[in-house]
Amino acid sequence: MKFTLESEKSSASDGCSGDLIMQQAEMKAECLIACDLCNSTDSEEISLIDRDGDYLRTVICRQCGLVYSDPRPSSEQIRNYYRSGYRVDYKATFQPKPKHVYRAGKTALERFRRIERILKRSCRVLDFGAGSGELVFVLLAMGYEASGFEPNEGYARFASEVLGLPVAEGFYQDVQIEPESQDVVTAFHVIEHLESPYDAFKRVRDWLRPNGHLLVEVPNVEAVCQWPHSRFHRAHLYNFNLATLQMLGRKAGYSVVNSWISSDGGNIMVIFQKNNELAPVSVKIPGNYERVSCIIRNHTYLRHLFTYFPYVRPFQKIAARIEEQRAVRKLESPREILDALVMRELLRKRSSV
Ligand SMILES: [Zn+2]
Repeated sequence: MKFTLESEKSSASDGCSGDLIMQQAEMKAECLIACDLCNSTDSEEISLIDRDGDYLRTVICRQCGLVYSDPRPSSEQIRNYYRSGYRVDYKATFQPKPKHVYRAGKTALERFRRIERILKRSCRVLDFGAGSGELVFVLLAMGYEASGFEPNEGYARFASEVLGLPVAEGFYQDVQIEPESQDVVTAFHVIEHLESPYDAFKRVRDWLRPNGHLLVEVPNVEAVCQWPHSRFHRAHLYNFNLATLQMLGRKAGYSVVNSWISSDGGNIMVIFQKNNELAPVSVKIPGNYERVSCIIRNHTYLRHLFTYFPYVRPFQKIAARIEEQRAVRKLESPREILDALVMRELLRKRSSV
C-alpha cells in the first residue's frame, strides 16, 4: 500500500511530455502548501521522484530551507496509511517478525544509551510513535516509568498484547495524555511523517512537566551516505537539517539543550527543553535555503561513487542481517529476544564500571 495522490493521475506514462509539463504546471499552481516552519509559500521544486522511482514532488522553502512534499496526501489518506498500510509497505508484515524485534531491540538500546544522560530516577517517559514497543520495553526494564502510543494497529497490538506493554493505539491528536504529566517525550523517526510537525511539537509541550525534555531524531536531509535517488521517501512529508529542526523547537516553545549528527551523517537528533513561558520567535535562518539546496544538487551519482559509502554500506547490511539470523535462531518469543538483549546490556554496563 502506498500513498496515492489525486495529482498522481498525471504520471509520465499517461501522455506526451507536453501534456505532462502542462499537468505539472497546473499542479504547481494549485498545490502551494505553506511552509510548516515559517508559513511562507515561497518554495522551489527540488525533486520529482522518490527512492522507488515513483513520482513525488519535493520543494524547498526559499525563506528557511525546510524541505517538504507538495502536494501531499489528504489528512484522511495519511491516517489510513499509518493505521494499516505503513508497516506492510516498509517491512511487508502486519506485525514484527523475530528478526524485526531483534533489530528494533538493538536500536532501542542504542537510543536508550543516548538519552540516558537526561533520565532521572523514576522519571516518566512517553514514546511518541512507539512502533512495536521496544524502547518502552527497554525503559521499563531499566527501571523507568515508560509508556507510548502508536497509530499502526498491528504494531500497537503487538506491543500491548504480545509484549504486555502500556502502548496505546492512536494518533497524537487523539490519545488521552494528562497535561504536564511527562518528564521526557521521545520521538524517534516520527515527526517527518506528520502533516504538521509544528502542531505535534505544541501538543507535546502540553504533555510535558515544567522544564521537561523532548528528544527528536529524524533523517538528515543533508546526508550523502545514501544514493542520491534514495534521499526522498513518500512517507516522509518533511525533510529536516539541524537548523530547521532546532528552529521548529524554538518556535514551538523549547530551548535546544544538545544536538548530534550520526557518524555517517544520516540522522540528526536534538534534545529540547520546554520553556515555561511562550515567547514569540523570529523564524529566520539566513543562508539555510542556499546551503541545503546546494548540498542536494551537488550530491550527484558521480560524486557518490567517489565516496566509500557505496562500497561499505552493502557489506555492513549483510553483516547485520547474518548477526540477526544467528541471534534469533534459538530465541523464539519476542520477549525472550528482548530479555536477552537487555541482559547483555546490563552485563556490558556492569563490566564497564
Ligand atoms: Zn520556511
